[in-house]
Amino acid sequence: MIETLQAIVLRPTLFQDGGLVVSFLTEHGERKVGIAKGAKKPTAKWVSAFEPLSLVRVGFFGKEQAELRRVTRCELQHSPLTLGHLESNLVMACLADIFDRVAKEGVEDERLFRLLSACGRALKDHPDRAMSILAYAEHWLLHCMGLLPHSRVCGACGEEAAPIVMLSEDHGWRCADCTPMDPAKALPAGIREHLRILRTCSAEDAPDSRPEAARACTELLRNRLMKELGGELRSYEVMRRMVM
Ligand SMILES: [Zn+2]
Repeated sequence: MIETLQAIVLRPTLFQDGGLVVSFLTEHGERKVGIAKGAKKPTAKWVSAFEPLSLVRVGFFGKEQAELRRVTRCELQHSPLTLGHLESNLVMACLADIFDRVAKEGVEDERLFRLLSACGRALKDHPDRAMSILAYAEHWLLHCMGLLPHSRVCGACGEEAAPIVMLSEDHGWRCADCTPMDPAKALPAGIREHLRILRTCSAEDAPDSRPEAARACTELLRNRLMKELGGELRSYEVMRRMVM
């Protein structure tokens, strides 16, 4: 049985005889893996379609329950790649990496596909804002995983006005009113506002990740995500060494 879907390429891995094992995020937000035989041979017309984060129309052949289906066709519809733009390309690798780990086989979550395709389009239009788009994606991934408490009110005392000073495991975001902290260790001013913008804007309007509050927020959420995924990922390590 052949199934044709819109999907985003996550990770291509070399396989025997010049083939590739490719993981995809399908339009239904499910991770699917397929073998593309002979994909790396020079004659293969579909090579370029297997770059991470490419939006493709892909055909799978095989039983629904089979571990590995065969990729019968793969047509490129959109690539977020900007040739020669290092930062944007590093961010693409990070995005592919985190979605490859968060998306699950047999579990559909359409929010994941919507989020990643929005980030891909935003990256193509604004490669210079790649870091902000990555921070935006991390924030929403944590939300999709159920790991991001709402920041409107303090999770401990319910206060709305006092600034947020920390994220705790049991009470979520906590405010300065109920949580005395060494100012050097407290989160900087503006965290609640930054989170509000992240929650309400689109990927292409992702807030600048350089101001102090944004930077502190990104670091906190990124560490939370990496902890959940079992430690810093290779793509992040490369990005940190090259551009941060
Ligand atoms: Zn409080």
